[in-house]
Amino acid sequence: MPRGVVPRQPARTGRQEKVRAGRPLPGAKADLKRAGQGGKQIPRQLSRAQRKGGPSRSRTTTGPGKAPKGYNPIAPERVAEILKRLNDLYPEVTCALTHRSAWELLVATILSAQSTDVNVNRVTPELFRKYPTVQALAALTPEQLEPDVRSTGFFRNKSKSVVGAAKKIVADFGGQVPDDMDKLLTLPGVARKTANVVLGTWFKKAEGVVVDTHVFRISRRLELTKENDPQKIEQDLMKIIPRDRWILFAHQVIWHGRKLCFARKPNCVECPLENVCHAGDKTWSTVEMHKDAKA
Ligand code: SF4
Repeated sequence: MPRGVVPRQPARTGRQEKVRAGRPLPGAKADLKRAGQGGKQIPRQLSRAQRKGGPSRSRTTTGPGKAPKGYNPIAPERVAEILKRLNDLYPEVTCALTHRSAWELLVATILSAQSTDVNVNRVTPELFRKYPTVQALAALTPEQLEPDVRSTGFFRNKSKSVVGAAKKIVADFGGQVPDDMDKLLTLPGVARKTANVVLGTWFKKAEGVVVDTHVFRISRRLELTKENDPQKIEQDLMKIIPRDRWILFAHQVIWHGRKLCFARKPNCVECPLENVCHAGDKTWSTVEMHKDAKA
């Protein structure tokens, strides 16, 4: 070693020991205040790297790990607690698509694929003014409808589905939207999600659980399912959620996805479900995170 160079010594202040003992980092007090935890638990503001699933640069945070042995995310008490909190948060929510009949709701739901409800609600009033009945739409070719639904995206497929559904409803169901799952599934462009929206919201029939992009993501984050396929997710949800909650549950989760549990940066710090949620892609957490529980 060259002369004059002294190896680095531990500081006499003992600050290393304080860090090892888990002293909160500067800023943690503000986090505590925000969380209203009263100093019992140190909430973790995750670093950018950690939010992306990478390693943490902070000494007080640990990355998501495996769920502990014996932990049952679908235990009836846990599911009941989640349902209760959703109820408190969104007591009277319903479908955000504007509609005055089962037919209008069916069309709006077909148009909502890969689009926002706001966007669809901009298009449908004029659409139903121009074509007020199922028969009026059944008389069109898909190409004639395309300009009217263009702004909702995927307009060629959507035009085909809407005109095809109108023709079949007129030909096979006397111009009335059927209130039966099997019959609805025979309509072009209608899968279980759309059928569940119409049955639940218009006919008040709980035949299944709507699994749209929000329900898909949040059910996985809350560990209500481990599946990746909407139909399998629906089956899982139908097993653990009481049937009389199927319709409302889907509406509540959809609203939760719009208001707080965003796909990219969920607003966990404001979320009343935070301490029952172990999602691996949370942006802030007071509880351990499970790496498999993510969108
Ligand atoms: S805590 Fe975060 S990830 Fe979990 S439900 Fe709430 S917003 Fe979504």
